[in-house]
This record gives sequence, structure tokens and C-alpha cells, in this order.
Amino acid sequence: MNILVLNAGSATLKFQVVVTDEARIASNDDRKLLRGQIERIGGESVITLRSSDSVSRTLAAPLRDVRAAVDWLVAYATSPESGTGLTSRAELHAVGHRVVHGGERFTDSVRIDDAVRRDIEAHIELAPLHNPHNLRGIEAAGAALGDGVPQVAVFDTSFHQTLPDYAYLYAIPYPLYRRHRIRRYGFHGTSHRSVAYRWRTLTGRSRDAVRIITLHLGNGCSACAISGGVSIDTSMGFTPLEGLVMGTRSGDIDAALLDYIGAKEGLSLPQVEALLNNQSGLLGLSGLTNDMRDLLAEAHEHNDRRARLAIDIFCYRARKYIGSYLAAMGGADAVVFAGGIGENSAEIRAQICEGLAWAGLAVNSEANAQLTDGAEGCFSTPESRLQAWVVPTDEELLIARDTFRVVTGRDAP
Ligand code: ADP
Repeated sequence: MNILVLNAGSATLKFQVVVTDEARIASNDDRKLLRGQIERIGGESVITLRSSDSVSRTLAAPLRDVRAAVDWLVAYATSPESGTGLTSRAELHAVGHRVVHGGERFTDSVRIDDAVRRDIEAHIELAPLHNPHNLRGIEAAGAALGDGVPQVAVFDTSFHQTLPDYAYLYAIPYPLYRRHRIRRYGFHGTSHRSVAYRWRTLTGRSRDAVRIITLHLGNGCSACAISGGVSIDTSMGFTPLEGLVMGTRSGDIDAALLDYIGAKEGLSLPQVEALLNNQSGLLGLSGLTNDMRDLLAEAHEHNDRRARLAIDIFCYRARKYIGSYLAAMGGADAVVFAGGIGENSAEIRAQICEGLAWAGLAVNSEANAQLTDGAEGCFSTPESRLQAWVVPTDEELLIARDTFRVVTGRDAP
């Protein structure tokens, strides 16, 4: 089945065309015919494309909205110059969408119909920056391919709907949860699920036997405690602001700071929230950048004190979460790293794992150093009771597989 995967943002559309079916999933042999992104939608858009043979190209086109962008993409993907081998729109059999917030309503990926569309709309209040754009992507794909082509929504939140109430409730007056659904939802669910699935395939375990801590360390960062194959706790909360230190987000802070920072700095509450989301984390601490590569270079080459401090706080917070999830699960079999930082930086992985010897984790430094650029594998010593792994995340692939599964009525593997 040829599946178009779409992740529609405010001015960006990320996409892939993936060929998948039951046999390909079983042998991990799904094919990516095309991937890329369209940026600056609404003006002169910049289109970055990568074909299956990894040839990259950049194009420009005036695309006034997401609808025009999807229309352009579908025309391109089915043209000879794309190299996909597809020759007509009818060869795109289904569309899978990343949808950020499914609230408590969606515990799994679903086929999109009018009722589902209304429900996604009803969750706009919880994800005002994301769900409206995801909906526009759904409308645009319907317009480009026709109503007969099935569309599937895959939610960032649904993997975490298995959290027990004592993990998802904040200790604030309970009626606030009843009245406004204020609780922890968690995000990055597609990533944590993708990593957990790949890890259990690599280690030959059944889903029930998966007891791991996954760390998605990219620009956004989150940790997830997975026990019996399901998410039982995660570090992001009502919004993605909670939890680990991220590129520009603070992660956990004392809520009383909102008012205090506002009063001291003459900022409104929305301005303080924006400061915590966009000017904090690695960027705020270092005063330099949110990019971990550059921070590591500054720390090494110029011995920059604040770059080092930002890195130390980042790693310390991640290690604290590992410790708390070990306690929450009564131990784990592995810590699994993913995301741009988790997949590429042996140094950060080593620093996070430092001091976890008490939990039985011993790093094999040589194996750790080998794991970059999409490599997967274990980097703890054979004697380690708690293993350490790198398993690159592939959210788009999981969206494609879920789309295949939902459209053909198969159960989750
Ligand atoms: P996003 O969350 O936006 O998808 P990514 O998962 O691509 O982001 O992660 C981006 C982060 O990964 C950046 O901080 C970047 O510096 C970091 N990163 C990428 N490669 C390396 C590397 N070799 N060493 C350290 N950090 C890296």
C-alpha cells in the first residue's frame, strides 16, 4: 500500500510517501519513495525533497496555503521527475496524518470521518497551535485525492492514555480535572511507541515483556516509562512544556514563578509562558544557542562556562527522570535513547548514564562512540543489569504502518 504521510504545521508541511504492508512490516522492509518538507507556506515556499536513493533537491514555488501545498505535493509525487515510479493520484492509496492532541477521546489511531473531524476540532482548545493546522492538512488531502481515499489520524497523545490516574492527575482541586480536563496528557507518543516497538523487535521480546525507559532527546525532549508494553508515565504534561530541559523550553519549574517573573520583568502571563517555551532551556541557560552540537563545541573549544552549565543541567534532569522511572516501575531492562541528540551524541548519552552504576548500568564507551547517524544498537557492557541502547525514532514510518493497519482493520502488533 502506498501511503502519503503528512505533518501539517502553521507554515510547514512535512511529508513522506511510504510503501508498506504486512510482509514489509514483519521484515522491517518498508520503502520510502519520497520525503521532505515545504516551508514558508503562504509566500514563496521552499521545498526540500529527498528521493528513495537519497538524492536531495530544493525547489521554490508560490504556495498560498496548505491546500495549495498538498496539491503541489501530490502532483509532484506522481510525476516522472519525482522518481517515485507513481504515475497517478489513484496510486496514493491512503493518507496518514500526525495530529497533536487527541485528548482523552482517542486512545489509538483512527480512520477519519466527520465525527472524528469534529472531535479533533473539539480538542483545539487543548492544542491551539497545532490541531487547527492538522485539520487543514486533512481537508487539503481530501480535496487533492477525493473523499474515497481513506485518511487516518495518528495522535501524539494516544500512547499515553494508558497512564494510571495517579500519574496523570495534578495535585490541584479535582473539579478542575472534571470541569476542564486539566491533567497530564504527554506528547511524543508516536516516537516513544516507535522506539519501543523497534527495541522489542531487535531483542525478540513480546509486547508484554517490554519494561524500558525511552528518552526522546531532540529540540523537544521527553522521557517515557514503558511497562508491560504500555506507557505508564511520561515527562511532558498538559502541554509539552513540562519535564526535561529542552532546546528552548524550561521543563519543570515552580508554578509560582509565573507570577513572580511577570511582576519583576513587567510581563503578562502569556509573555511569561512564551519566555518559558521559547527563550529558556539550553538557549536560556547558555545565552548562546538551543543547538546541542554548538553548545558542545563551545564547551570544548572555548571552555564556555554557561554552555557547560546548560549541558550539565540538561543531563542531570534526564538522569533524575531515569531514576524516578526506575522507582515507578520497580526497575527496568533498558534505557533507550532517540531523537537528534539521543541518536548522535555519545558524550551526552555517557554523561546522562554516569552515576547509574547503582542501578546496574555500565557503559561500553567504544560501543557508545560507534552509535551515530542512524545506527542502532546496545552500548552497555554484557554484564550490565540495566542496558543502554540507541534506537533511532521514525515517527513517519509508524504513522504509515498505523494507517495501513487501521485501513485494513488489523490489530496493533
Ligand atoms: P526535533 O525535535 O526538532 O525533531 P531533532 O530530533 O532533529 O529535533 O534534534 C535536534 C537536536 O539534535 C539539536 O539540538 C541538534 O544540535 C542535536 N544534534 C544533532 N546531531 C548532533 C550531534 N552529532 N551531537 C549533538 N547533538 C546533535
